[in-house]
This record gives sequence, C-alpha cells and structure tokens, in this order.
Amino acid sequence: MSNEPSDQHRHEHQHRHEHQHRHEHQHPHEHQVLNPATEEVIATVPAATPEDVAAAVARATGAQRGWAALAPADRARLLRRFAAVVDDHIEELAALEVREAGHPIGNARWEAGNVRDLLDYAAGGAERLNGAQIPVAGGLNVTFHEPLGVVAVIAPWNFPMPIAAWGTAPALAAGNAVVLKPAETTPLTALRLAELALEAGLPEGLFQVLPGAGPVAGAALVEHPGVAKVVFTGSTAVGKGIMATCAAGVKPVTLELGGKSPNIVFADADIERAAASAPGSFLDNTGQDCCARSRILVQRGVYDRFMELLAPAVTSFVVGDPADPATAMGPLISAAQRERVRSYVPEDAPAAIRGEAPKGKGFWYPATVLEATGPGDRAAVEEIFGPVAVVLPFEDEADAVRLANATDYGLSGSIWTRDVGRAVRVSRAVAAGNLSVNSHSSVRYATPFGGYKQSGLGRELGPDALTAFTETKNVFISTEEQ
Ligand code: ADP
Repeated sequence: MSNEPSDQHRHEHQHRHEHQHRHEHQHPHEHQVLNPATEEVIATVPAATPEDVAAAVARATGAQRGWAALAPADRARLLRRFAAVVDDHIEELAALEVREAGHPIGNARWEAGNVRDLLDYAAGGAERLNGAQIPVAGGLNVTFHEPLGVVAVIAPWNFPMPIAAWGTAPALAAGNAVVLKPAETTPLTALRLAELALEAGLPEGLFQVLPGAGPVAGAALVEHPGVAKVVFTGSTAVGKGIMATCAAGVKPVTLELGGKSPNIVFADADIERAAASAPGSFLDNTGQDCCARSRILVQRGVYDRFMELLAPAVTSFVVGDPADPATAMGPLISAAQRERVRSYVPEDAPAAIRGEAPKGKGFWYPATVLEATGPGDRAAVEEIFGPVAVVLPFEDEADAVRLANATDYGLSGSIWTRDVGRAVRVSRAVAAGNLSVNSHSSVRYATPFGGYKQSGLGRELGPDALTAFTETKNVFISTEEQ
C-alpha cells in the first residue's frame, strides 16, 4: 500500500464504487469498514457465523497439537520470524490503522512497533517457561507449565492492532493456538497480521482471525467447549457477560475493561510539566483509551495556575487528517461513539476549555475540559471514551486519595509531585493497576498491565504474560525404594 495521498485517494474511491455496486446484493454476513475520518467505506469483510467459529476452533485444535510438540527453541524462532515480518510491514500496518481506526500516523507506527516488540519479547519467553523443583519429603517434586489449548482473543476497536497482539503473542509462545475476533469496526490490521504470520512460517490454523459480530461470532467463540481460555478487552458490561458465560465452562478469563483514571496534580509538582502532559493523557487516541487520565484532580492552591497553563496546551493539540504526521488527534471511531460522547456534554454545557474540530465528514469531536459540578457528576465518574476530561479541585493528600478512589474503576492514574515520600504513599493508596509518577505513560510490553475493581481481572504483558496461558502441573516422584 502506498502512502502517496493521491494513490490512497484513488484506492478509496475505487473501494467506494465497489461498495456501491455490492450494496444491492449485500450478504447478511458481511461488515462494512469505514474510514472514520471520511466516512467512506474502505472494505467489506465477511462476518463469521457460529458454524465458521466451530470450524476455526477445530482447525486451531489440530494446529495446536503440533505446535505444542515443537521444541521451545523452534517456537521461539518462528515467533521471532513473525516479529521480523511485522517489522518489514510497519508502514503498511500503520497506514491500515490510520484508515480504519483514524489514528494519527505517528501513533499508528508506534502501535505496529509494539506488535513487533511484543512478539520478540514473547518469543524469548517460549524458552524460559521454567517449572520449579520444590523440596518435599519422600521424593522429587517438579512443576510443568503446560499450554491450555485454543485461546480466544476478543479485541476492541480502540487499539485494534496492539491489543490483538497482547493476548496472541504470549498465548502462542506458551504453546497455544489463537482464534481472534476483532471488533466489527476494525478488522483489517488483525486480518493482515494473520497473513503475515503465515508468511513467517507459522503453521496453518495456529493463529486465525475471524471478523464478526460480538453477540454472534464473539459469543459463539466464548461458549465453544473447545476454547480453553478467553482474553477479552472491551466494555465492562460485555466483559461481565463473558465472565458469566465462562463460569458455565469453568473457563479462565482475562478481562481488560473500562477506566476513569485520575491525573493528580499536587501543589509541589512541576506545574508546567504537569499541564504540558495533561492534554496527551486524555486526548491521545481521541480519548478512546481505557487508561485515559480523564479526571484531572488539582490541589486548590495551584488550580487557577494549572487551568491557565492547560487551556493553551489543549487548544494547540493538533486535530485533523490522521495521515498528516503533524496531527496529534484524529476522529472518534463512529457516529455511535460520537453520540455517546455528546450525551455527556450537553450543547450548552459551559466548557472550561474547548478546542476546535474539523467540520463536515468524519466523526470529529473537539477536545473538551469540563469543571465538575461535584464528585458525583456523571461526567466525573463514568467512562466517556472521548476527548473529554473533567477537572476537580482537592484540598490535601487524603482528599486526593479519596477522590481518586471514588469510582468503580481502577485501571491507571498519574501522580504529579516532587515529594518522593508522597509519590510512594499515594501510589500505594490508589486502587489501580497502573500508576505513573510525573508521567502519563501506562503501557510497556515488559511490565504487567491490568485493572483493579471493575477495570478487569488478571494481567497482560510483563514477565508473567506467558504463564497466564498455561496450566501448572505438579508431579511428585517417589524416591522410596521399590
Ligand atoms: P464497545 O462497547 O466499546 O464497542 P464492546 O465491549 O462492545 O466495546 O466490544 C469489544 C469486543 O467485544 C468487540 O470485538 C465486540 O465485537 C465484542 N463483543 C461484543 N459483545 C460480545 C458478546 N456478547 N460476546 C462476545 N464478544 C462480544
């Protein structure tokens, strides 16, 4: 795929015509993929039926046996090759992410790089899934980490490419097969990754991508008795339903759900740095980020100063064409998502800060900062998943911690202070899985990621990612004389 704008335009134009032609005979089992920046149809993909799911699980079951029987070094080599093939296609994958998810090209390149890095990291783990020798009386006791079998990964549309890899790479490295269901709106990068896996020499059927509707293909996958574990990233409501279905089969499940993360700015912080970082912490990915720091808590004494600095930082955040390297924020994913965001910000809501957004086609929404009417304000406690943050003042450290924890979520958060003791105290007191001090970064492939409370269950990434895709077997060998 070329990055030349004129070329891209021609491709899109051509697709649009194909689509118009197809529209009259559209198959019920098809999904259209839109470019959220233009609203043009860029592809039509088949939507899997429960029969397709069953066939995919059967193929995966066959492929998994051979894969698990390979020497760990051979699995590692193939996964490294997969990482290398992804590396050769960073530009192509990033361009796809730009078109189907509306992500700015710079971010999309990082996402493709994250897939490559995670495959490499997981490959290393394939050879280090060490069991333990545990001293017991009367014999030799050893543990083994054995693959589960077929793992279902259900991915969301907000970071379609990296999140597809977060479940897939460690699951494969630990000797499992993966059937991945991407979100309805964003199947293209995952489909391409499955092709690249074959190109790298991964066995046929080992990593399959089945686009389809959540309640049809997704539900069929979760229920399928041949699926040994489910990794789900998405909304808390759907996650709870998936967990209930998994209960029936006593199936392990990893859930990465919503968030309403605090960005806590203490008066002793470097206020300039905190204000400069804040826009990215809730506007990156147009706020469609479960780690978004969308509740800005500012200590009373520096509140006015912080808001003065925040306003120009927010309004200068560049919103526009995702393919332009200067763009920092693209559109929302869909019209439905824009409606959802609007429902939190009434037309006449007095925004403390409001940026600009393009007019016309595309699911655009301006960067918006609201001053909360109180800690119970709906916009201050519910996940909006758009470029909207709420600011609240706090009095002291205890008040900051109380406000930070006044939500059912617990995914991430930032703490801005120059006081090391306070940084540690507050980090320990906030009930969230991923905190950063004087930073808003959340995700690194080598560190564990996951939520407290209703933000999820289990951890992905990091040193224990592979073990989460294994059963631990304990074997005791008697050393008594026979
Ligand atoms: P959002 O509300 O942000 O679109 P969802 O939680 O609905 O997020 O979707 C996340 C993923 O879960 C998508 O791949 C979607 O198709 C899938 N999904 C939705 N409903 C179900 C379901 N009942 N069973 C399995 N997967 C589902």
